[in-house]
Amino acid sequence: MTQLAGFPKSVTLVLSERCNLRCRHCRYGEPREVPPASMDAEGFAAVVRDLASVSPDFVVQLSGGEPLLFPGLESLVEAISGTGARNLVNTNGMLLSKERIRSLSDAGLQEVVFSLDGFRVIHDYIRRKRGAFKRVMEAVEDLRALAPQVKITILPVISAYNLDQIAAFARWLCDDERISAVVFQFVSQPMPADADAHWYLSSDLWPEDPGEAARVLDALIALREETGSKVLNPASQLALMKRYFADPNHCVQGACTVGFRYLTIDGMGHVRSCVAKPPLARLQGVSILEVLASPEARQYLQAMRACRENCHYLINCAYEEGGEQEGKEAVRS
Ligand code: SF4
Ligand code: SF4
Repeated sequence: MTQLAGFPKSVTLVLSERCNLRCRHCRYGEPREVPPASMDAEGFAAVVRDLASVSPDFVVQLSGGEPLLFPGLESLVEAISGTGARNLVNTNGMLLSKERIRSLSDAGLQEVVFSLDGFRVIHDYIRRKRGAFKRVMEAVEDLRALAPQVKITILPVISAYNLDQIAAFARWLCDDERISAVVFQFVSQPMPADADAHWYLSSDLWPEDPGEAARVLDALIALREETGSKVLNPASQLALMKRYFADPNHCVQGACTVGFRYLTIDGMGHVRSCVAKPPLARLQGVSILEVLASPEARQYLQAMRACRENCHYLINCAYEEGGEQEGKEAVRS
């Protein structure tokens, strides 16, 4: 019996460091050196199988860059769906043709999360791609027709560009019966890049008026009440977003609550939980369960618990209401 230091509720597999878009709030699509990947579909599938041998009670997020660029996506989805773990793909939608919808649906895809930031003109502007909005809406329609069992979630990123329409856009999404859920994130420093606490001071992405941001977030809180939680962000998270837009450098209080609840594994096999520390390990001749059972994992966890950074990850992607829990302790036999 081996005690694991923690167990994830969500595992993000970074299938591609590249993207076919070059959005204004992200740098994945910019030309840059990317080390060759050492993980293929089978390598990623082995990680999911190992974790599911302890418990299948987690979600696998197939992400990037743009995950539809990953050549083994269908076989990976098929492998994951055989484990009992839930799966979803985070995509900009550009490559989600009817053919890909059929093949991914046949493989067992359960959810598509579309990045969609506003109505047509604004979305196309943010994504630097004329027709990007139309392409997503076509993919939504095709999914409903060809793969009605696949859940559709929309993920808008709130920034200065869409702030004045985000409340109307949210209502429009909530009124669309094809869409299961909407989850908001706030704009943060475009990544990948070296962290810069003052990036926003000179960025067009940053809303100038925190009062306007607060009014929009209040509207989202009200919409959440009205729609019976079709907006997935808890009201407490939307309230924290107001603090973020008022002062991003003093908006997070207390200890790190991430633990090993959220694991990320990239194409090099690097295992991360903290967004700022070096990777916990690299999956090279060692399994994910061995990594999570290692003394280094316990030390890493202790260091995370001691962290008091004003870390936006805690209130954006890794937010959890009352989030003290770190994912259940797991015993591997
Ligand atoms: S936000 Fe998404 S779609 Fe846009 S460049 Fe980054 S990874 Fe690509
Ligand atoms: S920087 Fe600190 S608060 Fe953020 S994930 Fe890492 S340990 Fe947690």
